[in-house]
Amino acid sequence: MASPRGTVDDSLWLDNTRAAASGTTYVPVDDSATGEEIARVRSATGEDVDRAFDSAARAQRRWADVSPADRVAVLAKAADILEGMADDLAVTMQAEVGTVASQVRGAQVGLGLTAMRLTAAAALDAITEREQIGGSDVVREPAGVVGAITPWNYPLFQVALKVAPAIAAGCAVVLKPAEVAPLTTFLVAEAFAEAGLPAGVLNVVCGGGASVGGAVAGHPRADFVSFTGSVAAGRKVAMAAARWGTRTSLELGGKSAAIVLDDDEEKVRAAVRHTTASCFGNAGQTCAALSRLIIPRRLLAEAEDEVRAVLEQVVVGDPSDAASTVGPLASREQRDRVAEHLRVAGKTAGVRTVAAKDVSHLTRGWYAPPTVVVADDPGAPIVQEEVFGPVLAIQPADDEAHAIELAEGTRFGLIARVWTDDDARFERVARRLRVGGVIQSDAPTVWDAPFGGVKDSGYGRERGAYGVEEYLVPKSLQRRAPQA
Ligand code: NAD
Repeated sequence: MASPRGTVDDSLWLDNTRAAASGTTYVPVDDSATGEEIARVRSATGEDVDRAFDSAARAQRRWADVSPADRVAVLAKAADILEGMADDLAVTMQAEVGTVASQVRGAQVGLGLTAMRLTAAAALDAITEREQIGGSDVVREPAGVVGAITPWNYPLFQVALKVAPAIAAGCAVVLKPAEVAPLTTFLVAEAFAEAGLPAGVLNVVCGGGASVGGAVAGHPRADFVSFTGSVAAGRKVAMAAARWGTRTSLELGGKSAAIVLDDDEEKVRAAVRHTTASCFGNAGQTCAALSRLIIPRRLLAEAEDEVRAVLEQVVVGDPSDAASTVGPLASREQRDRVAEHLRVAGKTAGVRTVAAKDVSHLTRGWYAPPTVVVADDPGAPIVQEEVFGPVLAIQPADDEAHAIELAEGTRFGLIARVWTDDDARFERVARRLRVGGVIQSDAPTVWDAPFGGVKDSGYGRERGAYGVEEYLVPKSLQRRAPQA
């Protein structure tokens, strides 16, 4: 199965087959490393979106009648088929997103497969769970027809986080992938068809956010809309869905902080290394990236030394080159956004650049310079705004209370890391932070723990059993009292 390239007129996936979209406009998809167009994808129209929802609505009832175990088996098989397509997936995502060779297998292909498999592992219990409340049984039923809208940063993972639990739960899906990176989605759809997913359970429509995404979010046949992307678009999605009273889940941006507490100061160098790796991974295009590092003020000079050492080792370059550690951003638009954030940071009082990588020799493609700044002003835009690029802001803190205040000082609330060896202190600080999840020091991410935000980072949870629950609705079955 080759990755779709060139002009993609048949950009709809309906009833398990490619179909021609009827729009008159095309969305170009470019190679992030060169800026060259690799595909032009024909946009869907409102009628195409209607067809996709019709197809989903027809299929959903029948799919809900398939046993949960059989549904989960299709999901597991699709993951195996996608694993066999790993080369195509890696090449496609490297071109669409620009992820470097050393990360594309793990962070793109591997994470997507992990999400599918962990969902498959958790789904059966979540779906078949039965509770008893007084004389009522409580069972869980599929939410129905789902509109799913995904961003471009992890084209397989983001799609998997919605499609896998929806399919396991017995829902049918109309998926609108990001216009910057839609090509991976066709591979996913083909894999599910090959795995035996019945026609109509997964449908794909391509095109712009406001037009096609808006039509999906505001579709009267959607029972649930799951969105991942920016705060601005998320609010529009919620408003469009509210027209029909449709429930939504919003996974939005972040400005997540790593906090080094003063009992762990000998780890400040390790914290710098860990946090820069998180911030520069996928060129900073990760919603849960740690883009702030809050450290005891007296350790600032040591942290800055370590930052300079890290940046010396960073190699920005062609993502297909094995030596590159940071690749380009996914699109010209994203590159320009990051450049604007850096321009503003350069003029903000109280913001000082510690080190930045020169990328002026990279004249093609969408490269941004990995940059670390110290920001003593918590109100500085570089502290407050999500850059979605390889830019880290260090914030010096006077004590634990100040560190918490700084961490809490943005409108986002996605994740945090708290560096301390003191488990009780970890929990105390973690419970004070208004975020969706907190990880201790350099502990590995638990990929089936619930993930999602509070405040402007959104609501709803993805991953593992909590992710499946979003696609289920409880139903009470209230029995009459036993007759004497
Ligand atoms: P975006 O919001 O522009 O686009 C995301 C998706 O929404 C795309 O498919 C787009 O076409 C669609 N869209 C845009 N406007 C829409 C509208 N009015 N109605 C319906 N759909 C619309 O975001 P992006 O630029 O693709 O991604 C970057 C942003 O997404 C960042 O802010 C990042 O933090 C966030 N993000 C969050 C998470 C998370 O899980 N919290 C994950 C990845 C990305």
